[in-house]
Amino acid sequence: MAKKISIAIDGPAGAGKSTIAKRLAKELGYMYVDTGAIYRTVAYFFDLWGVAPKDIDGITRYIDELNIAIEYDEEGVQHMIMNGIDVTDDIRTPEISQKASLVSAHAIVRDMLLDMQRDVAKQYDVIMDGRDIGTVVLPKATVKIFLTASAEVRAQRRCDELNAKGMKANYNQVLKDIQQRDYQDTHREVAPLKMCRDSVKLDTSDLDIDGVIAAMKDIIQKKVAK
Ligand code: C5P
Repeated sequence: MAKKISIAIDGPAGAGKSTIAKRLAKELGYMYVDTGAIYRTVAYFFDLWGVAPKDIDGITRYIDELNIAIEYDEEGVQHMIMNGIDVTDDIRTPEISQKASLVSAHAIVRDMLLDMQRDVAKQYDVIMDGRDIGTVVLPKATVKIFLTASAEVRAQRRCDELNAKGMKANYNQVLKDIQQRDYQDTHREVAPLKMCRDSVKLDTSDLDIDGVIAAMKDIIQKKVAK
């Protein structure tokens, strides 16, 4: 099998990773893998089972009951399947965002999901976004990009996103949640969010989506053409 191209996009919540990665994947004909959705599915599962995200004993006891699959529909949209049920929409709440950030700190959870993420990258050219893609999941990725923006800009984007879905959003609360998630994701012991030496940093605070896409394509073309 020819070696596949992999583009790792890491960065904090709300930096625009999924919006950008989805569009880029479509334009480049790559498979888009949203790894945050996988952690959200884990959080959702334990929420249903009444296990708190910090309760490592409960998580250890019930983790074997969880079966996660990633499926793609005919439009290439990623669906998360939890024990046979499509939970793609259920995992997109602020509560599950917070719980995903806590549940993802456990090594037992991260270890379980590692091969699943790597397997997709073995089979397809991928754009994979998350927190530890360049550092842990795909350390040999063809291109590594660290996408970031100020917490205030990210909070405003999240509010706009929630409003567009008809969900109410309070800017100060969203900002607080983002700052808390940033802290948790960067301070955990296992696979914390950090930039690797060989990744290119792109601050999207002052860029619109087209501007970010253009900058990313430029970075990707330079690396892939080598
Ligand atoms: O990207 P998203 O905001 O959907 O991710 C939800 C949470 O899942 C993050 O706050 C982070 O704690 C966790 N996550 C992770 N590693 C990844 C992707 C997401 O720990 N590769």
